[in-house]
Amino acid sequence: MTKKCYLSHLECGLCGERFDADKLWNLCPACRKPLLVRYDLDAARASFARGLLASREPTMWRYRELLPLRDDAFKLCLGEGFTPLFRASRLEREIGHAPLYIKDEGLNPTGSFKARGLAAAISRAYELGVKAVSIPTAGNAGCAMSAYAALAGLEAHVFMPADVPRPFINECRVLGAQVTLIDGLITDCGKAAREGVEKHGRFDVSTLKEPYRIEGKKTMGYEVAEQMNWTLPDVIIYPTGGGTGLVGMWKAFDEMEKLGWIGPARPRMVTVQADGCAPMVKAFNEGREFAEPWPNARTIADGMRVPAAVGDFLILRALRESGGTAVAVPDAEILESTFLLGKATGIWPAPEGGATLAAFLRLRKDGWIRDGDSVVLFNTGSGAKYSHIWD
Ligand SMILES: *Cc1c(COP(=O)(O)O)cnc(C)c1O
Repeated sequence: MTKKCYLSHLECGLCGERFDADKLWNLCPACRKPLLVRYDLDAARASFARGLLASREPTMWRYRELLPLRDDAFKLCLGEGFTPLFRASRLEREIGHAPLYIKDEGLNPTGSFKARGLAAAISRAYELGVKAVSIPTAGNAGCAMSAYAALAGLEAHVFMPADVPRPFINECRVLGAQVTLIDGLITDCGKAAREGVEKHGRFDVSTLKEPYRIEGKKTMGYEVAEQMNWTLPDVIIYPTGGGTGLVGMWKAFDEMEKLGWIGPARPRMVTVQADGCAPMVKAFNEGREFAEPWPNARTIADGMRVPAAVGDFLILRALRESGGTAVAVPDAEILESTFLLGKATGIWPAPEGGATLAAFLRLRKDGWIRDGDSVVLFNTGSGAKYSHIWD
């Protein structure tokens, strides 16, 4: 039996205009900004108590009523979400700060938290009748999209820069996707993908250009609260590219408060980016509402190599409302912290995960993180596919 879904409507994150949630949308047609999913939270509050969660499946679908799917027949699940939140005791002793937690997203299907967003997006697209999906990607998102498209039997088109490491390309191909390698950056892949979208009617699932990936990613916020017994940490450090997870968690906290699951306290949200691609850090420091595109974006942490994010204003809003901050770190520090994280926790992190530790060390040193602050670091992916950087 399908559980009730409280999906109500879509709302533009900038102009606030409302849209029918049972139709397919990409960006807001008026202002070309992301659409956010809204639920009937008053109705949900009356019947969806957090105590119901205890007996539910250990995936992100345990929050089923607050995910955007009408009918369970279209639910595509490979076990994504409800990843462990580890207390990193040896790392705490090593660096002299506690409590410190790692949310290990590397255990998701296809090895990164992109599985959450694409499980939600592809399930919803499948329910709304889409037959072919398309994505420009630096790697992980393409693998995740390919996996859920394979599960549903949808045609999958992945556009990757030709210099993406082989393991990402191989995975997409094994999962049945049509992979097109483009000489250029992710922005050039976006242009190439657009042609197929316009000519062949493929649905574009680029970050924040459809409303549902953020809904999958927001479940990280629900999980952190549930796993910390309905409290939240003082600080969350998040490696930011398009910002879906950060914006998603910020949305989740708001939803949970309206559901009566948590109180008004919020973590200070921290964006970490690499020195070679730090558009959000620059915009945050300059007090801007939107970020300027970053020229010649370079970093070993591919997931953070996003020179321009459509949801920039949503990221910046969450950082400011939370009393958070934004930090840029050089690749050398990212790599060093990735090795430290690995040897002190037993988790093989992606460099993006290592970047959160690099940011932590800086913020701890300059006193922004204080004694006793509880901190959650997001290891957003497994290190296994990054063979090119470990040598
Ligand atoms: C995509 C990605 C990121 C960035 O995530 P956003 O939510 O788009 O900011 C970070 N780490 C890894 C491993 C990624 O694949």
